[in-house]
Amino acid sequence: INTIGVLTSGGDAPGMNAAIRAIVRTAIASGLNVKGIMRGYAGLLNEEIIDMDKQSVSEIMRRGGTILYTARCKEFMTEEGQQKAAEILKKHGIDGLIVIGGDGSFRGAQKLSALGINTIGIPGTIDLDIACTDYTIGFDTAVNTAVEAIDKIKDTSMSHERCSIIEVMGRNAGYIALWCEIANGADGILIPEKEQFDEQDLIETILSNRLKGKKHHVVINAEGIGDSNRLAKRIETATGIETRATILGHIQRGGSPTAKDRVYASTMGAYAVDLLSGGATNRVIAYKAGQFTDFDIDEALAMKKTIDEYQFLISRLMVMY
Ligand code: ATP
Repeated sequence: INTIGVLTSGGDAPGMNAAIRAIVRTAIASGLNVKGIMRGYAGLLNEEIIDMDKQSVSEIMRRGGTILYTARCKEFMTEEGQQKAAEILKKHGIDGLIVIGGDGSFRGAQKLSALGINTIGIPGTIDLDIACTDYTIGFDTAVNTAVEAIDKIKDTSMSHERCSIIEVMGRNAGYIALWCEIANGADGILIPEKEQFDEQDLIETILSNRLKGKKHHVVINAEGIGDSNRLAKRIETATGIETRATILGHIQRGGSPTAKDRVYASTMGAYAVDLLSGGATNRVIAYKAGQFTDFDIDEALAMKKTIDEYQFLISRLMVMY
C-alpha cells in the first residue's frame, strides 16, 4: 500500500473528525500518502479528492460533524458507478480505502474490495445499530447530549406536574432510548426491538405512579416507533395529566465529541491504517467484549443486532415507583 484514501458516508457523527485525524497522522508516520475524499461516494464519483498532510487535520478533534462532509449516493449503488469509483481510485493512486459510516457504507466498501481496492470500514453512526460492534463513533456523544436535554425537560415538567414524551434518535434501533431510560429514569420506554409495547399498560403505570405521589412523568420514545405528538394526546386524554411531546432531533447529531468518542475513534482510525499496511481488505473494525477487533465485512453484515436483554431488564426494574 502506498496511498490511503479516507471518506465519511451516511449520517454524520461526532468523533468522525478524530478518526480522520488518527488515519492521516498514523498513515503519514508509516510513510504512506493520504488523500481525503469529500462527500462520501458521491464526491468520489465527482473526483473531489484532496491531498492531506499532518496540518490538514490540526484542531479538528473537538469539532462535531466531519471535515470531509458526507453524502448518500444513488449512482454508487449501480455496478457502473462502482466500476467508475474503482477506476477513479486507481487513477489517483489510491490502493487502500477507509470508509467511515454505517452498514450501507460498508456494503459499498465490500463492492470496492471485490474490484481490487483494499477497503476497511469503521463504524460511524450515533445509532449504535451495527451488529458486529458494541461501540460506534458518535453514540457516546449523542447519548450524553440526549441525557442532558432530558434532565432539562424534567426540571420544567416537574414544576408544572406534567407528563413529557421525549423522542430520541436511533432510527430503527432503541439504544439511545434505552441508555436514556437508565441514565435519566422514566415511566416508560418505547423501542423498536420490543414490539410488545402495551399503551394501556403505560397509561396505568403513569396513573398508578401519580397516585403514589409522583409529580411528573417521562416517557422515552425511540425514533422508529411513531408519532410522539399523537402519543402525547392519547396519554393526556386517558390520564387527564397535561402531556407534551419534545422531539430532540438533530441536536443529538452535533456537538463536540466526548473523551470516549475521541479516544475510541482515534484508536479505530489507527487500527484501520495498521490493517491496510498489513495487506488486509474487506474488514470492518469493531469493539467487542471490551476489545478492539475486526471482522470480515460479509460476516459483519450477516450479524443481527439485538437489544441487550440485561440492560433492558434493568431499565424495566428502574420504572417501579
Ligand atoms: P447511517 O447508518 O448513518 O445511515 P449508512 O452507511 O448505513 O449510514 P446509507 O445511506 O445506507 O448510510 O449508505 C450510505 C451510502 O453507501 C449510500 O448512499 C450508497 O452510496 C452506499 N451504499 C449503500 N448500500 C449500498 C449497496 N448495497 N451497494 C453499494 N453501495 C451502497
